[in-house]
Amino acid sequence: MHIPQTGLSKPEILAILQAFKSRDMDWKAGKVFCYVYNPGEDPAEVMKEAYLSFLSENGLDPTVFPSMLKVETDVVRMTINLLRGDENAVGHLTSGGTESIMLAVKTARDKARAEKPRVVQPEMVLPKTAHAAFHKAAHYLGVKPVIVDIDPQTFKVRAEDMEKAITENTILLVASAPGYSQGVIDPIAEVGKIAQRHNLLFHVDACVGGVHLSFMRKLGCEVPDFDFTVPGVTSISTDLHKYGYAAKGCSVVMYRNRDIRKYQIFACTDTTGYTLVNPTVLSTKGGGPYAGAWALMNFLGEEGYKRIVQATQDAAKKLMDGVNAIPGLRVLGEPAMCMFSFASDEINVYQLADEMGKRGWYLQGQFSTPLTPRNLHISVNFGNAHSVDALLEDLRECVESVRKKEPIDSDSIKALVGAALQSPDPEAAFGQLAASAGLTGTDLPSEMAFINEVMDALPDSVCNTFLINYFNDLYM
Ligand SMILES: *Cc1c(COP(=O)(O)O)cnc(C)c1O
Repeated sequence: MHIPQTGLSKPEILAILQAFKSRDMDWKAGKVFCYVYNPGEDPAEVMKEAYLSFLSENGLDPTVFPSMLKVETDVVRMTINLLRGDENAVGHLTSGGTESIMLAVKTARDKARAEKPRVVQPEMVLPKTAHAAFHKAAHYLGVKPVIVDIDPQTFKVRAEDMEKAITENTILLVASAPGYSQGVIDPIAEVGKIAQRHNLLFHVDACVGGVHLSFMRKLGCEVPDFDFTVPGVTSISTDLHKYGYAAKGCSVVMYRNRDIRKYQIFACTDTTGYTLVNPTVLSTKGGGPYAGAWALMNFLGEEGYKRIVQATQDAAKKLMDGVNAIPGLRVLGEPAMCMFSFASDEINVYQLADEMGKRGWYLQGQFSTPLTPRNLHISVNFGNAHSVDALLEDLRECVESVRKKEPIDSDSIKALVGAALQSPDPEAAFGQLAASAGLTGTDLPSEMAFINEVMDALPDSVCNTFLINYFNDLYM
């Protein structure tokens, strides 16, 4: 495509963009169980107007846009108060969970550089269930991830295993409240004690849980402490664009005090250009997501959030009970809120996801690990809570239709993968395998079961290369 010689009209443009969405999954109907968090029409409308009213303001320079400073500090303070930080706690708005996590890792790295110069190769201790954003941060920032296994029954890390992984190079401990994959909360208080004993920083990834769990507690539900009330917790990430229901591009990274946070901020006067002071990764920063979050939090209020959380919890409980009642399916672990995963010893869950896909539902496949079976993930939120009965009905029928289908022969796929790994040119052999799985070129695959099966059989490093090559072809 080229920029058109003569511009198109507004109706033409909007119609074309709308048409681009024709193959998207239908999140508005409540059939997508991840990626989109919908607070309902009225709150979304208020947020949209607020977002658009800050379309052009730039958070880069608070002296030019004090409005952006005010919006940011208000939203950060509301979030810190929700997570029970005291007046010393501070934070920043970021573009998302990944940026919040990267900043927490960078802060830990740079604090160690200043205070523990003997550490040449810094390490962070991560439960196997920690989000991939920590691995990305490790990759970008030169910090070594030290992975700790989880309890294969509860899917939680054992605090004593975290402690055993600490070395003199450790700069940061990490745990999740909850982890995305199985929706369970790590033993935050116990890890906090270990962090204190070893004088280490401890980041709690409450990207999905920060808002929702806090309101569950306010509603009287049993929720273990995971926030700033836990001694030893030094930083927390909470995504407002997930269960805070804000528009995408809004997360909060919080620190117990300014002495820690100062290592996050970057300043540069070394160029011919303007003086640059950036507390976060982005420099030019659109005001839309932040003003949207400010508007939504003020529009919903505590009452609005409580209503949303109650409805979501009711639906999630019904769905988890319903899944457990379908012969052949079982929910993994004891999920703490409204996100969970389920596995099957009888049918191929990737085929189940494809069958559900034909009926317009999106359930997210997750690969197996030595400690977790392959499974499908479901995040219930206010925007899809109303459709759990319909989901259960289709799930029951689709389990039956998968039982009648030709099963995918996992053993022969493992053999194919094994042969490809042994071949003189593994890259080419995997290319062929990818082609037979429909994972080549710029077409998006329609059925994922075979592809998932191949990827599940691949060693992680080979699978990563395979995915990188695929995306390298997919995008212009
Ligand atoms: C979503 C998520 C992240 C990453 O957040 P993004 O907003 O997608 O960058 C990190 N941790 C957990 C637990 C998450 O669920």
